[in-house]
Amino acid sequence: MKTLAFSGRLAGAIDCDVHNAVPSVKVLYPYLSEYWQDFMAEAGHPSLEPNYYPVNSAIAARPEARGAGGPPGADPDALISLVLDQTGAKRAILNCLYGVQALYNEYWAGAMATAVNDWLADQWLDRDPRLSASIIVAPQNPAAAVEEIERRAADSRFVQVLLPARTQMPLGRRYYWPIYEAAARHKLPVCIHAGGGGGGNPPTPVGWPTYYVEEYLAVAQGFQGQLVSLLAEGVFAKVPDLKVVFAESGFTWLPSLLWRLDKNWKGLRREVPWVDRLPSEIIREHLKITLQPLDEPDELRRLVETIDHIQSDQVLLFSSDYPHWQFDEEGPLPMALSPEAERNLLFANAERTYRFHA
Ligand code: ZN
Repeated sequence: MKTLAFSGRLAGAIDCDVHNAVPSVKVLYPYLSEYWQDFMAEAGHPSLEPNYYPVNSAIAARPEARGAGGPPGADPDALISLVLDQTGAKRAILNCLYGVQALYNEYWAGAMATAVNDWLADQWLDRDPRLSASIIVAPQNPAAAVEEIERRAADSRFVQVLLPARTQMPLGRRYYWPIYEAAARHKLPVCIHAGGGGGGNPPTPVGWPTYYVEEYLAVAQGFQGQLVSLLAEGVFAKVPDLKVVFAESGFTWLPSLLWRLDKNWKGLRREVPWVDRLPSEIIREHLKITLQPLDEPDELRRLVETIDHIQSDQVLLFSSDYPHWQFDEEGPLPMALSPEAERNLLFANAERTYRFHA
């Protein structure tokens, strides 16, 4: 079994993006009403598990995460061993990606979100106190999403609300504000993770691409659009306590976006008077970004330069993105990081962002 090459340096880290998986749709049936059980059984609905780790694509997932009779990430023992025991990390946040947000039936999506959260609490969070989780919600139905946030908020093992990066509308639109208000009310960040159905929208701003490589590269563009939308529509002014975490977004695009925003805000700010100071200042206050996949060039010293360009070492959160296989062999923590910057990256920024249970 491979171990993480930099394990010694991860002692005490908080891993802010770990993916567990629903092994089979059948495990969710006990958490669904008779109505939804009948609905799914009659239609023969298979799993909603996204095909993130094609079986014949060897590099899509860490090999240790495969072969347990379900998709990678379905085996709690393997996940806990690799992500926590072998690295010395002290906590991991489970982001269970299960296709709920891609359903067009918003009522079914809401029921599935509730079922996944119940299953997470029973089968994962009860198993190891080092595990925390995101609350799965269906953004297709903001009222149901708010109900779900209210239902989970008292359980401090749920530490944030999970939304997909590809949505029917830009995430700054007023339609989504009740979700942000509910999250902030309970001091829960909103994590926007790569993926989602997009409500029929193409993944690139210029239309439907032919190849996966085009879609994969466009992920960063989508995140930039969502960030500008949150800022320009006034979400950070309306919900000043809201924290937003971007996961699996990459981050090397952030400095140039902040430069463009600040420059163009100076000419266009009359249109958005609620953006009442430099956009870069507002974004640095509200935004965190998980580390993996690291889209720096090979020379990891560039991470230091990027942090310098962001003008803050308090934006990045450590993540392994397990079971994606982009976190091996090379240590993602350049020695050039100052001890304080490394401490912030590994756990201090996360502790400032989340309300963790004891
Ligand atoms: Zn991820």
